Amino acid sequence: MTRKIRCIECPKGCSLSVNIEDGKVVMVSGNECPKGKKHAISEVKNPVRILTSTVVSEGLALKMIPVRTDRPVPKTALQRAMEEIKRIRINQPVRVGTVIVENFLNLGINLLATRDCDG
Ligand code: SF4
Repeated sequence: MTRKIRCIECPKGCSLSVNIEDGKVVMVSGNECPKGKKHAISEVKNPVRILTSTVVSEGLALKMIPVRTDRPVPKTALQRAMEEIKRIRINQPVRVGTVIVENFLNLGINLLATRDCDG
């Protein structure tokens, strides 16, 4: 089976053709550097994404505070992560890099503020 995957490791966005046999990547073409092959293998085995979103603030200068995870989240956990993010309320000023949730969803990653927000 051949799967087409867009490499997202750099802005070039190479279109990769990935040959998969018995669930394993046997050949990757279309990549212009070794990162593309690594990305293709990761996409087939365990696709992950850095999650960026916003959380609701209460009584602060911004109504919504932008956040992101400090490490990639498995794609299978993204929906659960977004549901959790919707429930978060921030009522204390934050700085860029403030940990909003430690060990987010017990995945060993943190959810961080990506913008300062004063009271
Ligand atoms: S294969 Fe290499 S050059 Fe192409 S998008 Fe991926 S990282 Fe960029």
